[in-house]
Amino acid sequence: MGDSRFLVLVLDGLRPDLVTGRDMPNLADFRDRGASLKLSKAQFPTHTRVNKTSFTSGSTPKHHGVHFNKIFDPTLLPDQFIDLGDHADVSRADAAGRLITATTIGQALRDAERQFALVHCGMSGAPWLLNYRGDRIGQEHISMAGYPHSTAEAARLVSAGMGDMPDTKGISHARSRFAFDAFRTVLYPGLKPQVGLIWSDEPDKSLHVDGLRGPVSRAAFQHIDTLVGDVVAWWRSLADKDDLNLIIMSDHGHVETVGGYPVGELMKSAGLPVTTDVAGEGAVLLPFGSGGLYLRDQPRQVLFDVVEWMQRQDWIGNLFTADLDGVNGVVPGTLSTALASIDHPRAPDLFFTLRRLAAAPDEFPFGRALDPTGRGSTHGGLHNEELTNICFAAGPAFKERYRSDTAGGIVDITPTILSVLGIEKPPTMVGRALGDLLADGVAPPDAHAEARDFTATAGAYSQTLRLRQLAGRNLALDATRD
Ligand SMILES: [Zn+2]
Repeated sequence: MGDSRFLVLVLDGLRPDLVTGRDMPNLADFRDRGASLKLSKAQFPTHTRVNKTSFTSGSTPKHHGVHFNKIFDPTLLPDQFIDLGDHADVSRADAAGRLITATTIGQALRDAERQFALVHCGMSGAPWLLNYRGDRIGQEHISMAGYPHSTAEAARLVSAGMGDMPDTKGISHARSRFAFDAFRTVLYPGLKPQVGLIWSDEPDKSLHVDGLRGPVSRAAFQHIDTLVGDVVAWWRSLADKDDLNLIIMSDHGHVETVGGYPVGELMKSAGLPVTTDVAGEGAVLLPFGSGGLYLRDQPRQVLFDVVEWMQRQDWIGNLFTADLDGVNGVVPGTLSTALASIDHPRAPDLFFTLRRLAAAPDEFPFGRALDPTGRGSTHGGLHNEELTNICFAAGPAFKERYRSDTAGGIVDITPTILSVLGIEKPPTMVGRALGDLLADGVAPPDAHAEARDFTATAGAYSQTLRLRQLAGRNLALDATRD
């Protein structure tokens, strides 16, 4: 199988329950004919760039060090957040040290003298998470944010073959169409990648604007299903000849948003010494619906004060601090970052999520997240529906008409690909091959690890995290707060 090839198509933010024969017939057909991971999970925090890095490294934030879409690491850039969507920030941070502290698929393929090629729809910095240091190791990508954000050889090939890109901003279905054409007509024949990746920013972009039930999102579902139809037709024409496999996945789900919880302002009016500006004084706050607090030069008591205050707010969900005993964090009532596989030297002193609520059939059929702003739908936290993603695969390497109920998710996809290619996993790659999806494979020994609940309590505040303990990591399934 060492000469197998893979194309991975990512449909950003697509929930598995949206894939129905009525609404997305091409994708539902692809799922039903191939092998799929029914219970597939995203990595917490369920932000896009966390899951990009988790996919590319086959690993968790414990190893790769990316916890949010923006991070704070004063050893790399002392005076500012590192916006992982910004190419200039990513370049400056990575010039100062390793931005991703785990080995990525591009490096593993390079070490095995194989080619990786990516076309990425989204912000200019993010493709450098998926093709980490690609310009230094001969792995190529096109950024649909513009040729200057692409690697040199890919930019040369695609600009010569296809000319100008469509509009780089806003909702654009032409963008993912161009991305597929660039891969199909230029990068695949030109570079012959062993592993190719197309990252579509839809339906995520539309969902953030329009929610799960709006007309803009419905148009996006239709668009990506048409795209899937074209990608599948192209793949089928090459599957046997090129030993080409196709994986279609998403990076997380979405839940509906209930806004009005500006966490930064609420903390400041409570007199807590926090700042959302790195240049300001106080502990550094990332005020997302699933965010973090970096204590920095503040006394340790500030962490305890912030947690105690948050535990009294009914809009707060789950809280994690540094490990105390494998389950609890060092602050009473918090859970351990190690339990969630998010501990890392770069981790914030506190992870928090705004409260998640179960689906209410009439008003919020898709589940709800309290959120600072309240636009459209959102993700980032530990709602079971944010943690779902799709993982469908077909081709010579995979079983046909097979649905697996084994434990796994986005972290396992790169290890699965490397196992088929006969490439040894790097030590930081804690995911494992989804063996039972493979034509001649068997499930990993931890495939049916039981779901366990872990609870932390302080006064009237109580929170529970449900997870499966796999060999190399813990896989979050859901979380609640009472
Ligand atoms: Zn995403």
